[in-house]
Amino acid sequence: MFLKNDQLDQWDREYFFHPSTHLAQHARGESPNRIVTGGSGVYIEDRNGRRLLDAFAGLYCVNVGYGRTEIAEAIAAQAKELAYYHAYVGHGTEASITLAKMILERAPKNMSKVYFGLGGSDANETNIKLVWYYNNILGRPEKKKIISRWRGYHGSGLMTGSLTGLATFHNKFDLPLAPILHTEAPYYYRRPDSAMSEEDLTAYLAAELEALIEREGADTIAAFIGEPVLGTGGIVPPPAGYWDAIQKVLKKHDILLIADEVVTGFGRLGSMFGSDHYGIEPDIITIAKGLTSAYAPLSGSIVSKKVWEVLERGTDENGPIGHGWTYSAHPIGAAAGVANLKLVDSLGLVKNAAETGRHFLNAMKEAVGGHRHVGEVRGEGLLCALEFVEDKESRRAFDAGKKIGPQIAAALLEEGVIGRAMPQGDILGFAPPLCLTREEADRIVDATVKAVQKVFGA
Ligand code: PMP
Repeated sequence: MFLKNDQLDQWDREYFFHPSTHLAQHARGESPNRIVTGGSGVYIEDRNGRRLLDAFAGLYCVNVGYGRTEIAEAIAAQAKELAYYHAYVGHGTEASITLAKMILERAPKNMSKVYFGLGGSDANETNIKLVWYYNNILGRPEKKKIISRWRGYHGSGLMTGSLTGLATFHNKFDLPLAPILHTEAPYYYRRPDSAMSEEDLTAYLAAELEALIEREGADTIAAFIGEPVLGTGGIVPPPAGYWDAIQKVLKKHDILLIADEVVTGFGRLGSMFGSDHYGIEPDIITIAKGLTSAYAPLSGSIVSKKVWEVLERGTDENGPIGHGWTYSAHPIGAAAGVANLKLVDSLGLVKNAAETGRHFLNAMKEAVGGHRHVGEVRGEGLLCALEFVEDKESRRAFDAGKKIGPQIAAALLEEGVIGRAMPQGDILGFAPPLCLTREEADRIVDATVKAVQKVFGA
């Protein structure tokens, strides 16, 4: 249907196995593809000459925007000087060492070292292994289970796909694996009882978590992992007091806290880290995406002093830690990271995320918040989501078969703006580059109004 007499298009259908795609429809040419050729600022261009405002920054990762020559030049210079050397047995490069220092200068207090990986999934895989190693060194071999939240997103590997609390990432993959437990999502709009205040919901969620810990036995639970703001699960900021209440429960039961800041790290919420934004004191922090603004693949696990001391002791007792990737601390990724973090600072992007984010959220609320099918407009910093419902009063969802979320995203695309139909529920998400201007924010809002009108009528 969409198949054109175009060789690249045909090769795409014939040879390329796309992630998170309806494989059969794509191969048959029944669903649209897009071959992306360029980008500048908040815009991308495709092969048909369309210029689109990317209000999702790729996959919430191109934080500094497209076409930054400073990063491209840093990558080229590193590739010419030394494209690769490994980081095993004490090796490093100027770029990887400098980047580790820059990250720790920006990280929440009590952090000690950075381990580098390639993407968010492998960083969380590392984190699980570190937590297990930690408890083995402390002589607590039973303390291994990890608690995640329904609607959390932490990757799509075997363990990390298990942490992810979304059915599409489990179905037909025999996930979640046994050591992973899920507790309820901090999702005020979908609270179990409409009479609950935010504080009531927080108390309920903390009690649910504690009940799960007591049911399983605290001596079997190693860690809790959570995104400061739920991302792929629907872009949901937590209810008031949530992180304080959760941390109290975790401390009481001696359970480590992993803050997954793959989306929220480096400014997305209008603070350098989501942990600072919400007063979270994590034991380990996951970073990726905004670390290099996706100019090269790079992730990291920031390890606290408390965890680091035990890891050091482990190697004194057992020899070198048996964990590492060929591409850990890849010099090209590290060079991209250094140039990227310098840009985040020089362009004032953290402050811009707070200020333009506030403007964007308010403008969106004003423009579509009153619509009979817009149940909620929510967000924090430069994260924003609209949740569509059939009935606003009862918050009744649309029949999933109507695919309202994808319909709205498609109508938005016709207006020249990329938003994302989130994978669960009729939720339209926005996570634009952090360099977004007010004018660009207003353009996204105008396009959203038109898309909503197109799908539902005025
Ligand atoms: N954690 C979070 C919070 C994420 O949003 C993502 C990716 N969207 C990941 C982990 C996994 O990262 P990656 O896709 O780079 O493996």
